[in-house]
Amino acid sequence: MAGLNYVAYKGIVSIGLGAFLLLMAVAWGLKQSVKRSEAQRVSILSTSTPFDGRRAYGDLGAILEFGPRVSNSPASAKTRAFIRDRMAEAGVSFREEPFTARTPRGEVPMTNLVAEIKGNTPGTILLTNHYDTKYMPDITFLGANDGGSTTAWMIEMARAIGPKRNGRTLWLCFFDGEEALEDWSATDSLYGSRAFVDKLRAEGKLDDVRAVINVDMIGDCYLGIFKDPGAPVWLTDAVWSVADSAGHAKAFLDISEPIQDDHIPFRNAGIPAINLIDFRFGGSRLDHARNWHTPNDSIDRVCWESLQAVGDVLYQSLHRIDSSLDRAAAN
Ligand SMILES: [Zn+2]
Repeated sequence: MAGLNYVAYKGIVSIGLGAFLLLMAVAWGLKQSVKRSEAQRVSILSTSTPFDGRRAYGDLGAILEFGPRVSNSPASAKTRAFIRDRMAEAGVSFREEPFTARTPRGEVPMTNLVAEIKGNTPGTILLTNHYDTKYMPDITFLGANDGGSTTAWMIEMARAIGPKRNGRTLWLCFFDGEEALEDWSATDSLYGSRAFVDKLRAEGKLDDVRAVINVDMIGDCYLGIFKDPGAPVWLTDAVWSVADSAGHAKAFLDISEPIQDDHIPFRNAGIPAINLIDFRFGGSRLDHARNWHTPNDSIDRVCWESLQAVGDVLYQSLHRIDSSLDRAAAN
């Protein structure tokens, strides 16, 4: 009998302790989620640029209506038509550059897009992104953040700047085929940016490109953009100094992590390039695993405030980048 009592007693203790630990865990989790939202959810108090994050968010909703933007799909063609129409409205010159990609799934027709904002200084600065979504036959993958956020953001940036600017000519390049069709490798990824660099090289125009800024996954409500350890210091400083003074230091992290993206073919060609990516989609590693390349990459996880913050920072950074290039040219 004594033994039974002992077992029962231990059972009560362990249930009591288990419930207590569970409560503590819930309380800790709540505290963490509150802490995270306070620390990383972007808030906009004021803006000093013509970039309109809400308008970009509206365009993102329209683009997602087309469906998954897999290369050579109807939704991909609709997205191109949408961008073409928005550029025509803004009076920004626009061209399509079709090419054929050799992929593990055969030859695939793809199309890069270029919006050109004429400058008054020799040389070209490139602002680049990808508009395709990863081919995921088992799910409906809309890529609201991954591919969608930057497409809408680039449209708005072209509108905000307009047909002409003081400084170097700006090309806003919307690349097709950034995503791997099967498994990411040097030959199965970055189809658009690799074709673009090859074309520039063949035409002898590679030297005109003075700097490349690539954006990817910048719509995350819990925005945290990594520093790119492969970028030149002057290019990183041009962006981070503006982020600090614009009050967005929390969204532009002091964490360096190399991420392979569409800036790589340019960097390999010797062009100064920086990649601006939030690779903690949702604010943590755990959230990222749940959200990246999953059906969770949906518009409710993208915030106009994040598009606005990156828009404000880049709009002003472009002037700093021009100034740095001016100084380098004078020396
Ligand atoms: Zn992706």
